[in-house]
Amino acid sequence: MDLRPSDADAAVRAEAGAWLEAWLSAPEHRTDDPRLDLEWRSAYQRDAYDAGWLVPSWPLGEGGRGVGPEAELWIKLDFARRGAPKLPNVQGPGVVAHALNTFGSDEQRAHVRAVARGDVWWCLGMSEPQAGSDLASMRTRARRTDGGFTIDGQKVWTSHARDSSHCLLFARTASEGPPHRGISAFVVPMETPGITVVPIEKIGVQDEEFCEVFFDDVQVPESALLGPEHQGWKVAMESLGHERDMIWIMNLVEIEAANELTREALRARPRPELTLEYAAVRGDADAIWLTGLRGLASRVAGRPDLQTPLLKLFSTETAQRAFLLARRAAGLDAPERVGSELLAGEIEALGATLYGGTSEIQRNIVGERILGLPR
Ligand SMILES: Cc1cc2nc3c(=O)[nH]c(=O)nc-3n(C[C@H](O)[C@H](O)[C@H](O)COP(=O)(O)OP(=O)(O)OC[C@H]3O[C@@H](n4cnc5c(N)ncnc54)[C@H](O)[C@@H]3O)c2cc1C
Repeated sequence: MDLRPSDADAAVRAEAGAWLEAWLSAPEHRTDDPRLDLEWRSAYQRDAYDAGWLVPSWPLGEGGRGVGPEAELWIKLDFARRGAPKLPNVQGPGVVAHALNTFGSDEQRAHVRAVARGDVWWCLGMSEPQAGSDLASMRTRARRTDGGFTIDGQKVWTSHARDSSHCLLFARTASEGPPHRGISAFVVPMETPGITVVPIEKIGVQDEEFCEVFFDDVQVPESALLGPEHQGWKVAMESLGHERDMIWIMNLVEIEAANELTREALRARPRPELTLEYAAVRGDADAIWLTGLRGLASRVAGRPDLQTPLLKLFSTETAQRAFLLARRAAGLDAPERVGSELLAGEIEALGATLYGGTSEIQRNIVGERILGLPR
């Protein structure tokens, strides 16, 4: 496969880039705080959807332009590098829209436009206090009742739960058989009686609120089921898979930002002992991009994409190393602007080694599924 952009891909990429430049430079789109300005980030999501650049491979008129996977990857990388705003409720278009589109009834699919445009936010109810990495051991139960289900249990680390209109909830519907075969997915309006949302206080940048969500005798109709009963694992795995490129692209861009801070600092105050480390991180950034292209090439050729867990692991851990290096290069007397960029980047990089499967879990997957090592 030739991974150089074709003429058609180069043209669509240029058009996308021009649209982004125009959007970012419009006077009404100025912001002093790209991380915390949720209005700015929401306006971008809406406009990108309407212009067809939100998810370029989606159909025309539905947030995309129907472009192929290669052009989409280039556009996503260009947008991230050129400072496109981060989507405020990234799991909406990243996970929920795919789940609704692929597994939803007509009534459920009717939510897709609003979710993808960011007109409403949805949360993802997966992790529980005793079931994070081992998601299959979740205990939140959905018992069948007349005409529907009754849900009881607790979720944790639920991003944006307080501001969400709905939850894409995963709950246990069977206790016999392998644990992952007894889980179902549900569409649950957050206003349903019996749901209590408790925000979790955290340190660091307040751009994303985590919550605990308690379900106490919550009644939902049969039509809340998303996909077939007991097939929630399939819904979760297929929908989360769509985030795979976004995670390494976001981390690659964070690494590049950290490298820029290191470069600036080393230029102002040369530190030969850090130069080799800097070169190594830059080399790792190139390796991430090339591995991403290998993953794409495998998918386009219909082969299994074995790169995803490697990319998740390596891009998130490299981002941590890149920010630690930048902090050492900048020193304790770094200007305030650099200090706050470093702090935000470090915190983001810490979270990235947890969400979407921790580093240890990625290592298990690489060992068992890719290298075929014994368990
Ligand atoms: C920024 C961010 C956003 C998030 N948003 C959401 C969300 O919207 N919805 C949601 O449901 N969840 C969300 N999460 C939660 C996330 O999915 C979990 O944190 C993650 O799955 C890990 O689960 P845990 O925190 O319970 O850790 P645990 O599973 O308790 O793990 C604790 C430690 O043990 C290690 N460990 C566990 N099992 C193994 C094993 N088999 N082998 C080796 N080591 C192991 C882990 O790697 C980790 O270091 C979010 C997390 C973050 C950081």
